[in-house]
Amino acid sequence: ALARAVVVGGGFGGAAAARALHRLGLAVTLVEPSRSYCACPLSNAVVTGLRPMAAQVFGYEGLARSGVAVVHGRAVGIEAAARRVRLAGGGSLAYDRLVVAPGVEMRLDAIPGYDAAASAVMPHAWKAGAQTEDLARRLAAMEDGGLVVLAVPDNPYRCPPGPYERASLIAAYLKAHKPRSKVLILDAKDVFSKQPLFEEAWAARYGGLLEYVPRARGGALLEVDAAGMSLRTEGGTVRAAVASVIPPQRAPELCRDAGLAEAGGWCPIDPVTFESRLVPGVHVIGDAAIAGAMPKSAFSAHAQAETCARAVADLLHGRAPETPRLINVCYSLVAPDRAVSIAGVYGIEWDRLVAIPEAAGISPVGAPDALRAREAGNGAAWFRAVTAELYG
Ligand code: FAD
Repeated sequence: ALARAVVVGGGFGGAAAARALHRLGLAVTLVEPSRSYCACPLSNAVVTGLRPMAAQVFGYEGLARSGVAVVHGRAVGIEAAARRVRLAGGGSLAYDRLVVAPGVEMRLDAIPGYDAAASAVMPHAWKAGAQTEDLARRLAAMEDGGLVVLAVPDNPYRCPPGPYERASLIAAYLKAHKPRSKVLILDAKDVFSKQPLFEEAWAARYGGLLEYVPRARGGALLEVDAAGMSLRTEGGTVRAAVASVIPPQRAPELCRDAGLAEAGGWCPIDPVTFESRLVPGVHVIGDAAIAGAMPKSAFSAHAQAETCARAVADLLHGRAPETPRLINVCYSLVAPDRAVSIAGVYGIEWDRLVAIPEAAGISPVGAPDALRAREAGNGAAWFRAVTAELYG
C-alpha cells in the first residue's frame, strides 16, 4: 500500500504540501473545514476598494481533481503514538506522516478590551474574509475628516510588512476621496520590514495624511474601548472614526492542544524536515511554525511545504533528507499599482534556518516610478501563478 500523508489546513502551506506529497507518490488526504479559501495577499487592496473580494477566493475542486482526497472537516486532536488525527464530529484519519499547516490564531486575550466583540468593531482583517469586507465598508462610509487608526503588534506575526501596506493604501484612498482625513499607525515596535521604502513613499505621496508612532514615542497599544472607539497607548488616548487593531498572534488551538507549541505560542521544528521538535511524526509548516529567520508569509509557507514534502517522502523511504535552501519574496503595495519587494534565501546553520546575507535583495530607495509599477505587476503575477498552481 502507498504511504499515507494527512495534511491539516488548506491554505498556502497545506495546499502546497498536499500537491507536493501527491506528486511524490503518497496517498494524501487534506483536512480543511472551509469549502473555499480566502487568500490574504492583496486583500489590503480589497479594504480600499481597489480589488473585488471574489479575486481572493478559491475552491478545493482543483486539488480534489489532482488526486488529493479533500475532507471538509476540522482537526481537533492528534494522537501521535497511534498516528491518528481526530476530526470534529467523531471520525479520525490514520497517517504515516502528518503535516500541520493551520495558520495563526488572533489572540483576543492580549490587549485589554480587545476581545471577540471588540474585534467585530475594530476589525483586524488579518484573516481575509468577512472582516476584510467589513473594514472596507467602514472606510467607505467614513465622513471626510475622520481619523483611521491602525494598531500593529510586535514581532513575530503574520506578514511583517502587511500593516504598512495597509496604511499606505488607506492613505492613498484618503488622498483621493477624503483629503481632510488621516491615518495614524500605532506600532508596538520601533523598526519594521522595508521601513526606508515605506517611509520614502509616505513622505513623497501622503505627507500629513499619514502619521507613524513607534513604540519609542508611545505607539504600543495598552487598551481599547470599542464602544467608545478609543485606543489608549503610552502616548495618550485617541478616538478613531475607523480602527483596525491587529492583535498579537500564536499557533492555533490544535497545535497547542497537541503539544506542538512551546510557551511563546509557536511550534519549534527541525528546519531540514519541518518535523516538530516536540511531537515525532508530525511536521509543522507555514505561519504556525518557528522557521528561524524566515518571515510568516504565503511565499515562505509554499517554500516550506516543498521542503517538508521532500523530507517526508525521504523519511518514509528510509533516505536521508537533503539539506534545503528556501526562498521568500514579499511584495508590498505602497500605492495603487506601485510596489516594493524584499527577497531572502535561507539555509541551515547548525540547527537553525538563517538568512544568507549575500543572497538577499531589496528594492532600491529612490528608484523611478516605473520600477515601482513593474514590481506591482510582478507581485500580481506571483499571486496569479501561485494560486493557479495550488487551486487551479
Ligand atoms: P493559512 O493561509 O492561514 O491557512 C490555514 C488553513 O488552515 C485555513 O484554510 C484554515 O481554515 C485551516 N485550518 C485552521 N485550523 C484547522 C483545523 N483545526 N483543521 C483543519 N483546518 C484548519 N504573504 C505573502 O507571501 N505575500 C503577501 O503579499 C502577503 N500579503 C498579506 C496581506 C495581509 C493583509 C495578510 C493578513 C497576510 C499576507 N500575507 C502575505 C501572509 C500570508 O497570508 C500568510 O503567511 C499565509 O496565508 C500563511 O499560510 P498558512 O498555510 O500557514 O496559513
